[in-house]
Amino acid sequence: MRISVIGCGYLGAVHAACMAELGHEVVGIDVDERKVADLAAGVAPFHEPRFPELLARGVESGRLTFTTDPSLIADAQIHFIGVGTPQQQGRLGADMSYVDQAIATIIEHTAVREDGAPVLVAGKSTVPVGTAQRLADRLDASGKPFLLAWNPEFLREGYAVKDTLHPDRIVYGLSDDVARGEQAKLLLDECYAKLLAEGSPLVVSNYPTAELVKVAANSFLATKISFINAMAELCDATGGDVTRLAEAIGYDDRIGSKFLQAGIGFGGGCLPKDIRAFMARAGELGVDEALTFLREVDAINLRRRDRAVALAEEAIGGLGGRRIAVLGITFKPDTDDLRDSPALDIANRLWDRGARLAIVDPAAAPRLNERRPEFETPATVEQAVAGADAVMVLTPWKEFVELDPESIRGLVNQPVIIDGRNVLDPRRWHDAGWRYFGMGRGVSV
Ligand code: NAD
Repeated sequence: MRISVIGCGYLGAVHAACMAELGHEVVGIDVDERKVADLAAGVAPFHEPRFPELLARGVESGRLTFTTDPSLIADAQIHFIGVGTPQQQGRLGADMSYVDQAIATIIEHTAVREDGAPVLVAGKSTVPVGTAQRLADRLDASGKPFLLAWNPEFLREGYAVKDTLHPDRIVYGLSDDVARGEQAKLLLDECYAKLLAEGSPLVVSNYPTAELVKVAANSFLATKISFINAMAELCDATGGDVTRLAEAIGYDDRIGSKFLQAGIGFGGGCLPKDIRAFMARAGELGVDEALTFLREVDAINLRRRDRAVALAEEAIGGLGGRRIAVLGITFKPDTDDLRDSPALDIANRLWDRGARLAIVDPAAAPRLNERRPEFETPATVEQAVAGADAVMVLTPWKEFVELDPESIRGLVNQPVIIDGRNVLDPRRWHDAGWRYFGMGRGVSV
């Protein structure tokens, strides 16, 4: 099929490359010239495992192109929308201006085919419920033969290629007009034929359900993380160990062990802004009481950052002039995404309180240098910890989880390890001569 993808960030670029991998002819459009130049040259503009190979293969095959020129989407049979929906400045709700601009681009540049065949607009961005119907009305008003489906995306950064090519599920939100809904479904079925043949479950619904599925999933995940972080607060107050608690409750199938890691909390370009936009939308719909629990989820999450800063301060008796090695600055491993990263927020606060920082991150140092040129970003853990008064693990990259406490013990000024993700073995660090502090692991070892 001929496909366009509007917006080539973490979601759109991966979606475009995966669609080319499935055999489609894909053009990716973005307004960011630098990003497009990289993508068009087959160079990944962000860190995402397996994406560089897929991108290079697609570009080489000639089936995958990238451009800033919207006229090149004219003959696409499906336009996927993958632009950002960030939190509005100073408000909880989502900024929908990029989606609105994308729709305007599609309306302007879609060519009406001689056979009158419909063109499908498939929304992948995460949007407030009610958006799809509003956009469908706008597309209808253009007089061109558009169909609209909402096809939310569930990929996880770090696993984006796997999640796009082998999704846990595919969701289509279709028009209430049955004939048009069926036409849209046929086009999506053709596009995703290989994924469906491999057995990816398909859930077909109306527009609001599909929009809600995405924010409901993210709200559930955020709630699960904040639940265990609330338990971490209780453990800190009582001497309990939240990692043992999580292990024990996780054996219950109804609870499950995933997303039960207490620590510095969730972040990134999705969970925080999605739960806030969901609360804002519930308010507009007059059902804000249904989601007041998300306020607590957000508040518990933000308290984790306060806790990490306080722990550092307590552990080394003040922050001013102290040297702290920060291991990991992204919101999770295997990405270079710094959006709403708890690790970066904590680093900023330590800096504001007078600490001197040396930050190591396997992927995000270039992005961090652009944002905070004043932060020192040594290339190795050994350089970062040299002379440190505390070492803080804030992102559980594999190399930090596997760090050998013996090998770096001799390099630091004070052997204080703060495990912001509860991924280290306290006993092992203690035996190597460190004072260990976890998040909700009771008294320090
Ligand atoms: P992103 O900021 O990485 O990418 C958005 C891209 O859209 C940018 O490259 C930007 O330049 C481009 N853009 C903005 N306006 C444009 C326009 N008018 N025309 C063409 N391009 C335009 O964001 P992202 O992480 O890829 O997220 C995109 C959407 O997908 C959001 O709604 C997000 O909530 C959702 N989502 C993201 C993920 C994820 O893990 N990143 C997962 C699921 C859903």
